[in-house]
Amino acid sequence: MYTQEYNLTDKLTFNVPAKSSFYTSVFTDEELRDALNWARENSHAILLLGGGSNMLFHDDFHGLVIQIGHKGVKVLEDDGRRVEVEVGAGEVWHDFVIQTIEKGWGGIENLSLIPGHVGASPMQNIGAYGVELVDVLKHVEAVNLASGELRRFTAEECELGYRASIFKGREKGNWAIVRVAFTLDRNSELKMSYGAIETELQHIPLEDRTHKDVSDAVIKIRQSKLPDPTVLGNAGSFFKNPIITKAEFEEITRNHPGLPNYPAKNSRVKIAAGWLIDKAGWKGHDRGTHGVHDKQALVLVNKGGATGKEVWALAQDIIESVKQKYNITLEPEVNQIRTDRGNPDY
Ligand SMILES: Cc1cc2nc3c(=O)[nH]c(=O)nc-3n(C[C@H](O)[C@H](O)[C@H](O)COP(=O)(O)OP(=O)(O)OC[C@H]3O[C@@H](n4cnc5c(N)ncnc54)[C@H](O)[C@@H]3O)c2cc1C
Repeated sequence: MYTQEYNLTDKLTFNVPAKSSFYTSVFTDEELRDALNWARENSHAILLLGGGSNMLFHDDFHGLVIQIGHKGVKVLEDDGRRVEVEVGAGEVWHDFVIQTIEKGWGGIENLSLIPGHVGASPMQNIGAYGVELVDVLKHVEAVNLASGELRRFTAEECELGYRASIFKGREKGNWAIVRVAFTLDRNSELKMSYGAIETELQHIPLEDRTHKDVSDAVIKIRQSKLPDPTVLGNAGSFFKNPIITKAEFEEITRNHPGLPNYPAKNSRVKIAAGWLIDKAGWKGHDRGTHGVHDKQALVLVNKGGATGKEVWALAQDIIESVKQKYNITLEPEVNQIRTDRGNPDY
């Protein structure tokens, strides 16, 4: 069924006004292929939707929005220690994380409470608290939007990088992810060195700590720092942390000491975009209906009534100001859904 003039706002954590000409949800590969054929026959552009937690709609979408609803958690292999598990793209990410913890499977406890669905998790190689999807990804099954072909991508073929993948990169707009498989490990090492996890777990002796303890700590830290999208519209970090050369890093820190940084690939340095935005004076910036979160400068918020275009105008002002102050060009992490250039750009 294709619903016309569909109001998407409630499906978007940014909570901005947005409609699509048509909307449908699909739960099997066959239903997905039917929707793709229908869109092709009627010359409609296609936009895939998961949990709507990493998108900013600048305006209405002229075409068919397909929400991928595939369900199911299936164990492919279990050798008593390692488990290979394949999950439908429409499963809620955090619900899946909780299931793995209940079963004693380790590996994604640090990714607790990330909003959205399993299908979008490879899109930007979701990451938090020292763990990225790449650490546990086994394969991705995806349907080609043009031909309907089902293809299995190995973890390597997904070309995962920092907030990047083949699906967000050179194969952008070509595939609908329908299932994602993970390799989890009952004895996986707990990762507690990132952020405040260690502090949160101090009261538990090291040898007694479990995957659940790490998950609980991550949930507690996230709830204290990040705005709840059901209360304050947002899409998490709006910008990526820039990755720069060592020479550029030294140049910036000469004038701006204290910039938090982490080693990146090829001897480059990842620097904290939130710090740059904060020091440029934007933290807590208020434009009435929208602004910059007062606890986390990386998060832009819709306080109620903002449009996507207004949020984007604020983002552009921040980009310009950071460029002026540090000569660094911030890039959005959130997918911009805009049709004002004649073509859907997402
Ligand atoms: C409060 C908050 C905190 C967050 N914290 C983090 C964090 O710590 N780390 C992190 O990495 N991210 C974080 N995010 C961002 C976001 O939750 C993740 O990127 C998440 O994986 C997006 O999932 P989604 O289902 O909501 O994707 P959507 O927003 O629905 O879609 C995102 C993109 O993927 C495409 N897409 C969606 N589903 C599919 C599919 N099945 N096949 C192909 N393309 C698809 C869409 O077209 C769109 O381009 C946060 C967001 C919020 C609101």
